[in-house]
Amino acid sequence: MPRSLDEWIGKTPDASVPPRVRDRIFTRYNGRCQCGCNREIRPGEPWDTEDTIAIINGGERRESNLKPWLSEHHPKKTAADVAEKSRVYRKRARHRGIKLRKGPPMRGGRHDVLKRKMDGTVVVRATGEPVRRRA
Ligand SMILES: [Zn+2]
Repeated sequence: MPRSLDEWIGKTPDASVPPRVRDRIFTRYNGRCQCGCNREIRPGEPWDTEDTIAIINGGERRESNLKPWLSEHHPKKTAADVAEKSRVYRKRARHRGIKLRKGPPMRGGRHDVLKRKMDGTVVVRATGEPVRRRA
């Protein structure tokens, strides 16, 4: 089996990509932004190596998981990663029977920040401090 001697693998998930590796990644994708626009990255234009599968979604910091992205096209992906992460989390939680809250706690319910005691006084649940009601 051939060993891929040359694939760069980051020592940590946020390891910075060495210049020679950046150069290879750039060449591999013909110097085109891989965010989906496929635009040519012009000389001197800032670009980043983007994890194709984001680290927070289980991707690895390695050359085969990196693609060139124009720096100005970056924020979109990051927001998408976070959305994807929460989607993955919710799906898994549902699958495993873990209940996720769908909205704010029901007023007066046992997850409300306030609670009404038997004598009618309303207190802050966490501290037991009474709350002044407006007349
Ligand atoms: Zn792009």
